[in-house]
Amino acid sequence: MSDAFNTLNLPSEQLDNLAQLGYHQMTDIQQQALPSVLAGKDVLAQAKTGSGKTATFALGILQQINPRFFGAQGLVLCPTRELAGQVADEIRKLARYMANIKVVLLCGGQSIGPQIGSLAHGAHIIVGTPGRICDHLRKGTLEIDQIKTLVLDEADRMLDMGFSEDMRFIAAHTPEQRQTLLFSATYPDNIEALSRDFQYEPVMVRIEGQH
Ligand code: ADP
Ligand code: MG
Repeated sequence: MSDAFNTLNLPSEQLDNLAQLGYHQMTDIQQQALPSVLAGKDVLAQAKTGSGKTATFALGILQQINPRFFGAQGLVLCPTRELAGQVADEIRKLARYMANIKVVLLCGGQSIGPQIGSLAHGAHIIVGTPGRICDHLRKGTLEIDQIKTLVLDEADRMLDMGFSEDMRFIAAHTPEQRQTLLFSATYPDNIEALSRDFQYEPVMVRIEGQH
């Protein structure tokens, strides 16, 4: 299998962008998971921290975005504010070649007013922590019924932190025929149970290695 990004079905502008970012070869997880992600399949992926999982789901989200529709089409749930911020930054870098893709970060510990203002102007991609996203859904300030891709990032940590019910509540507001991508650094038993609840015939990709 080739590790070159140009073996994937990506726009040439994205290939140029990846080269400018210094992404010359795919990492193992990217090489093994991206074909299924880009084919729109549900993927359950496990690989250690630092292995390039973010770009794996970000390229999948970006492929599904209609830039002319200013509604949420991609939703990424992360366990902490710091991780959500890093994911939003990475998505923005990968979206650089597309005009006007708006990524909105919704995390707790920050006042909700400006977040509501941001959402009111329309957003293509939402990245955030489960608690705050539930708050917005309860208030009616976030609509996720047009989501095409739902990502559970660091799913093992979200389970450890007790976010199961929040994840369930959020997923119930998204369309049933969405693509669901589940990423984890470790592979505890409850990951498979989570996958069974949220995914349809997932492709499983596991990269051996220290966590
Ligand atoms: P993980 O989520 O698996 O812990 P990240 O997605 O945060 O890992 O990636 C770790 C670092 O590697 C980031 O700084 C990211 O920009 C970089 N990176 C990801 N993919 C590639 C690649 N194909 N080539 C070079 N650097 C990459
Ligand atoms: Mg990560």
